[in-house]
Amino acid sequence: MTLAVKAVGIRKSFGNHEVLKGLDLDVAYGEVLCILGPSGSGKSTFLRCINHLEIPNGGYVWVDGAIMGYELNRGALQELPVKRLRAQQSQLGMVFQHFNLFAHRTVLGNVTEGPMVVRGLSRAEAEARAMALLEQVGMAAKASSYPSQLSGGQKQRVAIARALAMEPRVMLFDEPTSALDPELVGEVLEVMRNLARGGTTMIVVTHEIGFAREVADRVVVMIDGEIRENGAPQQVLSNPGDARVRSFLSRVL
Ligand code: ADP
Ligand code: MG
Repeated sequence: MTLAVKAVGIRKSFGNHEVLKGLDLDVAYGEVLCILGPSGSGKSTFLRCINHLEIPNGGYVWVDGAIMGYELNRGALQELPVKRLRAQQSQLGMVFQHFNLFAHRTVLGNVTEGPMVVRGLSRAEAEARAMALLEQVGMAAKASSYPSQLSGGQKQRVAIARALAMEPRVMLFDEPTSALDPELVGEVLEVMRNLARGGTTMIVVTHEIGFAREVADRVVVMIDGEIRENGAPQQVLSNPGDARVRSFLSRVL
């Protein structure tokens, strides 16, 4: 069966600082994977390598069986032209810590922009689909508001709807609740929990151990640019074999 995401031997350095030291990861369709790890361990860089926002110095990523950023040409790998790379990247929906909404667009405009500009949907069709997604994240009533008029939790729910509007095969979340006031975390996790229940394939970098324990099919712990644990939530969270993982978890649990 084709995997949603396969990463093999991913390495990334900035100058002489080796941030990712050869990471392997398989994610099946329908799977929810949570990535935990201390700040600076390379989690964001790994997500950015998966969607080719960063080009790995070594290793390759396949999304739905196609190698990211390259094509085979007479047996040799060649870099994809930018336009086709963008099309590949649009198979991965990305939700960031800091929302990154378009400030000068309404909530509805934020969700329709990608489908209209990249996919060529008509305004009517893009708006109909956007409203259904805003309904799904509980934001339909705010369709004509601007981002500055929303709470952080509301902004993040719009950001999730915006990513879903591109109909990605996989959703990537980079600490989606880390910038939120504590009382707003729950509403965003609830939307993510519903997505997971609906079968969305998700890779979630998070410090929300409760969410990982309850929602993840699998938990990965990264330390210092390496995957130190990769297994079922109960196993990894309750009984990690690795001493540095035990020490990290004892600080966040
Ligand atoms: P995490 O998301 O786990 O906190 P990051 O992937 O953001 O970790 O960062 C891992 C390391 O890589 C950090 O030491 C960070 O300073 C470094 N790093 C990340 N991006 C860059 C960059 N564009 N240039 C230089 N160093 C970077
Ligand atoms: Mg990060």
